[in-house]
Amino acid sequence: MAEPVLWLSEPDVSGEIRILDPHDGSPLPAVPVATEQDVADAVHNARHALPGWKATPIADRGAALHRIARALGERAEAIAELNHRETGRPTSEALAGVMAGVAGLEQYAEYAPLHRASSLNGPPDALDLERREPRGVAAIVTPWNDPVAVACGLIGAALVMGNTVVHKPSERCPATGRMLGEVFAGILPRDVFHTLVGGPQLGAELVGDQGVDVVAHVGSTATGREIARLVADTGAHFIRENGGNDALIVDENVDPDWAAEQAATGAFTNSGQLCTSVERIYVTEGVASEFLDRLVERANALNAPGPDAPHSLAPLVDERLREAMHEQVEDALLRGATALTGAEIPSGSGSYYPATVLNGCSNELRIMREETFGPVAPVQVCGTFEDAVAAASEDRYGLACTVLTHSLEHALEAVDRMDVGTVKVNGVFGGAPGGAAQPRHDSGDGFGYGPELLDEMSHVKVVHLQAGVL
Ligand code: NAD
Repeated sequence: MAEPVLWLSEPDVSGEIRILDPHDGSPLPAVPVATEQDVADAVHNARHALPGWKATPIADRGAALHRIARALGERAEAIAELNHRETGRPTSEALAGVMAGVAGLEQYAEYAPLHRASSLNGPPDALDLERREPRGVAAIVTPWNDPVAVACGLIGAALVMGNTVVHKPSERCPATGRMLGEVFAGILPRDVFHTLVGGPQLGAELVGDQGVDVVAHVGSTATGREIARLVADTGAHFIRENGGNDALIVDENVDPDWAAEQAATGAFTNSGQLCTSVERIYVTEGVASEFLDRLVERANALNAPGPDAPHSLAPLVDERLREAMHEQVEDALLRGATALTGAEIPSGSGSYYPATVLNGCSNELRIMREETFGPVAPVQVCGTFEDAVAAASEDRYGLACTVLTHSLEHALEAVDRMDVGTVKVNGVFGGAPGGAAQPRHDSGDGFGYGPELLDEMSHVKVVHLQAGVL
């Protein structure tokens, strides 16, 4: 059964996704949607291709990843341009995302052959070894907000470990996903890799297929929960990298202007549509007033008109997201928060939303408790650093957080007390290239990145080798 057109106000049944350009609301070219039969065929064919791909030496699988990385590099600008048109992401950031995808493929190509090469300490007349084997058919379901880098890491790790892959990119960037799929499929042997363009219903069919052995989902917490229920029935291994509600803690010993720059970078980059965006800010009293003034200045600079757009800040992916996040802002204002800037949907076309700073927030508010996924910086002023850490640590998510401090003691206190997968000290973004991340609680489970993703994408078989008795 074909899925109906998605996200248009007048759905039809032509089996196409038609999205609107977030810059001006104009329709983008329609992209055909895969069918239920396409899902079954893709999984079946991927399983059929599995023995041949598994038997391909890992060095050759790595070499294929290198060729894909080169081909992706050659089409990087075209893919970035599509990503920009479909999701509103600034072209330079979209291009950086594609190049991060290229780097991810190259890292896994080089690293996988060396990964965890080890022997065990068995008796002297025997050898005990760990052998890595692919899990089987991998279903990889990805979001729109960093569509190429996220997909390349998961797909690259799955392929190099010998799995065959069925990828479902987000329905909010169908042409980007389709072009990425063409790059992979153009280089890999037949049926080792498939792309299925479609929406949530198609995704549910894919992850619920009994022929799938490992499911990786990067996306919202609500979807991650739904997929967990489906996967419970199939027994597939499940990796989920979901939403975040990252706190920024500002100590009173830091330069408030620098702290405001960090906060603005964390909250407003990609218009706040990053899993590790700063979602809530706890600032200590001593620097709060100056910090807020500087943060508002930075937000106002972003809210000024851009060279060829009504705002410097890129639009949100679509009006659906804008409505959902604005509801959170309105709820906060109703419950006592104050808007220092922004907080209003601008007139005119496109799904723009201004960089917004809210003061007087507390953990009672939805905006502090839920992922917002927009350019909003909600701030709570706290008496002491300890109060700030205590408030920041009350959360059901567990992706990441940042602490800005010149005190080693305070930094270590935050590292110890924050129940999250990644703690960043004095830098909202960054991290080692190819670094791992293991989210907690509502933010997910398992390693979606780093060398450990190769473990998620493989089984260990222990081999005990002993000479026989003649
Ligand atoms: P989403 O979960 O709505 O969609 C992601 C993918 O899941 C899409 O391909 C979608 O079609 C598919 N999907 C939706 N419902 C499904 C179902 N029932 N069964 C199977 N597949 C289904 O998320 P989104 O809106 O595209 O992305 C934004 C979210 O992703 C945010 O919450 C963000 O924090 C999160 N994210 C997390 C990370 C991370 O590494 N933790 C990285 C990027 C984005």
